[in-house]
Amino acid sequence: MDDQNGAPVKDSPGEHSPDGHSRGGRPAQEVTVKEGGPARLAIIGGTGVYDPGFLEGAETRIVPTPYGEVEILFGRRGPREVCFLARHGRGHTVPPHRINYRGNIWALRKAGVRWIIASSAVGSLNPQMKPGELVLVDQFLDFTKSRDATFHDGAGGVVHVDFTEPYCPALREHLGAAAASLDLTAHPAGTYVCTEGPRFETPAEIAFFRGAGGDLVGMTGVPEVVLAREAELCYASVALVTNFAAGISPTILTHREVVEVMQANLEQIRALIGRAVDTLPPAGNCRCGSAAGEKGIFNASLGVDGGSGQDH
Ligand SMILES: [Zn+2]
Repeated sequence: MDDQNGAPVKDSPGEHSPDGHSRGGRPAQEVTVKEGGPARLAIIGGTGVYDPGFLEGAETRIVPTPYGEVEILFGRRGPREVCFLARHGRGHTVPPHRINYRGNIWALRKAGVRWIIASSAVGSLNPQMKPGELVLVDQFLDFTKSRDATFHDGAGGVVHVDFTEPYCPALREHLGAAAASLDLTAHPAGTYVCTEGPRFETPAEIAFFRGAGGDLVGMTGVPEVVLAREAELCYASVALVTNFAAGISPTILTHREVVEVMQANLEQIRALIGRAVDTLPPAGNCRCGSAAGEKGIFNASLGVDGGSGQDH
């Protein structure tokens, strides 16, 4: 990381690493909270997507959060401010069950992000969704087991967020139009099954998931989408099918195979996201921005609305 590029801006009370220590002696690199300013779009790159490939003037900054520090690449594409976050770290060093999902979403929210387009590599349970094809996920089934899946741990009151539309319908529709304009095959909907990992699934699990209505299987979509909704962000998932799942594929699955298929399809993912960024309509054609309900608890806890500044 380049720790010299971030503009030194204000730090907030309580914004230290989880062990309670601040970054002694180093200039604060926190980005200014962009409430009221021009909104940013963020790309979360999953397996095989470690660089958006199109950011101008990109610089890495470290954003402190109550859940630890998060490294984000800030840049532009044309007039749009865009940030990029590598979900597994730039060297793919963080396994799915150890990803700092809360830190990542908190940091993006704090940076003034309004939209998140997240990429992921997925296995397919659906014969219609073939390797090399894109799916704009619209539902999920959560089979994770040990993750911190909410910002609302009770300190700010009990909050139950509606998940009738887990993914932003407006952003998903926009991505579908962008894909069509590029002649890319993008299935407009699909149900994503999130497993705990890091092992791949058994054929029995895949048969069960398929019977339950799953189309795709991966290990990172939840709680990322959940936290994005709690943070009142528009979140869409661009899933690339890298393989048919266990028991459907005639061969044994390896991580290397997943990465190779992602790399072979990297340009279509970049092209799709780039087109979507270029043609992004104004926000407002969805309810994501008020998902946390009338209390606005997330804003208050984030400390950007004159709230308490409490961490959790
Ligand atoms: Zn939305």
